[in-house]
Amino acid sequence: PIVLGIETSCDETGVGIVRGHTLLANTIASSMDEHARFGGVVPEVASRAHLEAMAPTVEGALAAAGLRLSDVDAVAVTAGPGLAGALLVGVAAAKAYAMGLGVPLYGVNHLAAHVAVDQLEHGPLPKPAIALLVSGGHSSLLLVPDVAQDVVSLGSTVDDAAGEAFDKVARVLGLPFPGGPYIDRAAREGSGTAVAFPRGKYDDGTLDFSFSGLKTAVARWVEAREAAGEPVSVADVAASFQEAVVDVLTRKALQACARYDVKDLLIGGGVAANSRLRVLAQERCDAAGVRLRVPRPGLCTDNGAMVAALGANLVAAGVDPSSLDIPADSSLPITTVHV
Ligand code: ATP
Ligand code: MG
Ligand code: FE
Repeated sequence: PIVLGIETSCDETGVGIVRGHTLLANTIASSMDEHARFGGVVPEVASRAHLEAMAPTVEGALAAAGLRLSDVDAVAVTAGPGLAGALLVGVAAAKAYAMGLGVPLYGVNHLAAHVAVDQLEHGPLPKPAIALLVSGGHSSLLLVPDVAQDVVSLGSTVDDAAGEAFDKVARVLGLPFPGGPYIDRAAREGSGTAVAFPRGKYDDGTLDFSFSGLKTAVARWVEAREAAGEPVSVADVAASFQEAVVDVLTRKALQACARYDVKDLLIGGGVAANSRLRVLAQERCDAAGVRLRVPRPGLCTDNGAMVAALGANLVAAGVDPSSLDIPADSSLPITTVHV
């Protein structure tokens, strides 16, 4: 079956089309240019941009796939979590397409979609798998029995998300928003061992994370240097901060694999695009005999294909479609895969 996926939880209007787990199109319109100068996504601006971009992005995805609207067999949409008004535009559009075409609607969890997208690149996810989900709003370790089934949360951040820490530290370093990709790039010219930044909850025996102490430590370190009139190497600070984040993320992910005796680890979400995270995760997985899956960077950040991929799983699993009056749920829990 051909599944159209619609994603509008933040600033990206994403429309993806899949046939089973074959990716046919992944078209994205972003309003990030309009938000960047505010140093964060402005909800009202995002909602309006989604409204304007929706129909053209659907048309663009259909054209890229060489399909017509009448070829679509099911519509999947991000029902949450995310920005309420932004989600609402996607959910309303998805209902209209599903109703107009007379095809089933599947409201899905954005975070579960970050996990499901890997199948478009690497095939069916082994069951069970451990997923490290690291994004702008979330950092969690999940036990995934099956992508179409509700997941079990093993641990999560007690304060900032990993992506949020990247974005806040980037601001301290005078880098643009969103900072993750800029820190990644700056870090390539620096040393990850230049500054020994703290690793929160490193050996506390839980599978939880904490990044707010690290963020504060970086800000203090930079302030102290500047106050003393000493030069700050943005590359070294970026690399040392990044090293602290990915050290903790990979350590806890492998602890989760060991604790639950699972040999397959998946990393998803925007931060999974980080080049150093990908390298260190591979090294540590190799050493532990764990198989690692990370989607290519373009599939890690928000997109419509991830929603379509999860929708395809739900269709294949024979899950009942969503009702046509599902709400957009800005705080949909990570453990609820579909509504
Ligand atoms: P959520 O998925 O929790 O709702 P979101 O959808 O806003 O949040 P994503 O689009 O999944 O988040 O990821 C965006 C985040 O990923 C941002 O914080 C961004 O800085 C970060 N990010 C993107 N690329 C990289 C990179 N190469 N290195 C580190 N962080 C990155
Ligand atoms: Mg985004
Ligand atoms: Fe996301």
